[in-house]
Amino acid sequence: MAFENGIIDLRSDTVTHPTKEMRAAMAEAVVGDDVYGEDPTVNELEKKSAELLGMEDALFTASGTMGNLIAVMTHCGRGDEAIMGRQGHTFLHEVGNMSAVGGVFAQIIPNQPDGTLQLTDIKDAIRSEDIHHPETKLLILENTQNNCGGVPLTKKYMRDVKNLLVNHEVALHMDGARIFNASEALEIDPAELVADADSIMFCLSKGLCAPVGSMLCGSKEFIKEARKIRKQLGGGMRQAGILAAAGLISIGPMIKRLNEDHDRAKKLADGIKNIEEVELNKGYPQSNMVFVKLREGLDKSVEEIITEMGNEGIRISDSGPGEFRFVTHYWIDDADIKKFIEVFSTVFTA
Ligand SMILES: *Cc1c(COP(=O)(O)O)cnc(C)c1O
Repeated sequence: MAFENGIIDLRSDTVTHPTKEMRAAMAEAVVGDDVYGEDPTVNELEKKSAELLGMEDALFTASGTMGNLIAVMTHCGRGDEAIMGRQGHTFLHEVGNMSAVGGVFAQIIPNQPDGTLQLTDIKDAIRSEDIHHPETKLLILENTQNNCGGVPLTKKYMRDVKNLLVNHEVALHMDGARIFNASEALEIDPAELVADADSIMFCLSKGLCAPVGSMLCGSKEFIKEARKIRKQLGGGMRQAGILAAAGLISIGPMIKRLNEDHDRAKKLADGIKNIEEVELNKGYPQSNMVFVKLREGLDKSVEEIITEMGNEGIRISDSGPGEFRFVTHYWIDDADIKKFIEVFSTVFTA
């Protein structure tokens, strides 16, 4: 499917619009007051999301950022510590919310190129019992790991991390904004992939096309507390079934088509990898993201390239100095990929 206005927008999968089916479902949604627990559409979405990920319960949140923050505040109290990767969304792109709002201390350890955190680094980061130390309560992993290339973390890796954490009574939260891209890339059932996580957040927006919303999943007890913290943060929504109706389509047919986005990311990479002026960065695409780097010494800047592509109706953005990230999604079809490759190739010769 291409955008109706003909714009090819590869900046992110956050730019996706709701599908026609979603708009119809939203118009017809049966609603109630969700703060009273009386919105049947939200209740259905929470129940189905929990089932899909093999968790006991789930909570609809306004955004992924809010879902992650609620998870951190449910696992940790003020002055407790959470460990996460230097390349993680929770460290880079959530405005320091866990400290600013939750009073939670963040400890950062390096991500490996494959997106993982090294087990020895995790072990060294967990605090010992000492009057000088905060208590380490949580480890956050991200799957797929966006900044490392949209790479999936395997079930085996998660198992190894969990085995390490249980000895120290540290919980495992999964920032699974794109967990279904990960399960698709690894060809594994999503519930099996996240079986070792104590909680997981995933986004209904992004590649799954809902206009708004994320789900936080965990045990009954965890979600009960999380629901109260959501209210405390001002995230208790009333007739949210309007939004949940789109979410039900996200976790149904939209998950099943993510392989198309992954195929198109590979096509895009294949189409540009022989352009002399660029090289693939962060490996061959494993999900819906393609990273490229400009070769050094080019007389064209990232900004000039973005402008020239924009003039042709193609939106792209940089992901660091001399770097681009292209993201495929529902609103990018084969013709869009073909046009992108043609235009991107000519930018360097023009
Ligand atoms: C987008 C994203 C989030 C946050 O989601 P929002 O809905 O944009 O707040 C969290 N983690 C990762 C890895 C993301 O890509």
